[in-house]
Amino acid sequence: MTMVTVTKPSLPPLDEYVELLADIWDRQWLTNRGHYHEELEKSLAVYLGVPYVSLFCNGMIALQVGLQALKITGEVITTPFSFVATTHALYWNHCTPVFCDIDPVTCNLDPTKVESLITPRTTAIMPVHVYGTPCDVEALQRIADTYGLRLFYDAAHAFGVHLNGQSVLNFGDLSMLSFHATKVFNTAEGGALITGDAKLKQRIDYLKNFGFADEVTVVAPGTNGKMNELQAALGIVQLRHVDVEIAKRREIDALYREELADVPGIRLLPETTSANRNYAYFPIFVNEACYPLSRDSLYAALKGSGFLGRRYFYPLISEFPAYRGLPSSMSLPVAATVSRQVLCLPVYASLDCAAARTICEVIKRPIAKETLQQSICGGSSLP
Ligand SMILES: *Cc1c(COP(=O)(O)O)cnc(C)c1O
Repeated sequence: MTMVTVTKPSLPPLDEYVELLADIWDRQWLTNRGHYHEELEKSLAVYLGVPYVSLFCNGMIALQVGLQALKITGEVITTPFSFVATTHALYWNHCTPVFCDIDPVTCNLDPTKVESLITPRTTAIMPVHVYGTPCDVEALQRIADTYGLRLFYDAAHAFGVHLNGQSVLNFGDLSMLSFHATKVFNTAEGGALITGDAKLKQRIDYLKNFGFADEVTVVAPGTNGKMNELQAALGIVQLRHVDVEIAKRREIDALYREELADVPGIRLLPETTSANRNYAYFPIFVNEACYPLSRDSLYAALKGSGFLGRRYFYPLISEFPAYRGLPSSMSLPVAATVSRQVLCLPVYASLDCAAARTICEVIKRPIAKETLQQSICGGSSLP
């Protein structure tokens, strides 16, 4: 049985890429601010609606360089409900992660719980726009301004997401994008930092190239975070097709929403009206008190039918051995509940609707046997 996986990398028509590869062979320039690197930085800034883009070899290095560029030290308030890279980047920069609980509806850092975690050593907040749902950017900015903290968004999921008519990447001091194969827009491996500050971009560009400002001047202990021409050219071609990718994902998202709207014990992310979304993920939240199966049993049932969901994000980052000893890891009740309820369903452009419908049938099948439950719980009950 071939499994339907949670995502499938989108690849453009090969001949379009080959055309650019031929040009790279002619130019014989493979990395260090090459032709396609420069073109992709400019094209992405226009597409995303942001002032400056700095391309990276991947999102993780972009996070690490962003922390260096902002000179973030000491304690950083962050979310345990994310991919491990968010916290690892802090660790690699000798910062202490301080985990803050999340909002049960958006799964993003809960701004009302941030202030009580601030100490004299706190220098920054690092939230994540989880599943591409925008954080409460205004509340977070207010806290950052009040306490003089930096605000650095892990926006790995938020490619192309707009909030109230502008890019969500324009909020805070800096945002990081990932162009990993599993993301909505990919360059196989890749990433970017987004800022509205020209001087900060300059500093980031030095840092990603070993700290070189010119041939003989090294201004800081930089690293090698450069995106090469093969990645950048792939990005140029991907960008031509990304709107179609997102539109196809929207269709799958709509199908899931229609089919799963009223399943008792299955909660969906709310449909936001103020944000334009990218349909990167389709998480469902399984409330065992109202749904006949546990999240893990449903995961197994889907797997048995050939559909591989993913439990993003389970376990919590704060539950991994490297971080579970931190004082802030001890009490994160909302994140702990959400993490045990979440299951991301397959969503990608080439997923056919029939497969998505079958997935919904597998989810609804146990209900038919337990119709009694329906009178007890609604589909939208919170944890
Ligand atoms: C994918 C991802 C990253 C890491 O990006 P890479 O490009 O794979 O290094 C960081 N944070 C989050 C939330 C991610 O989903």
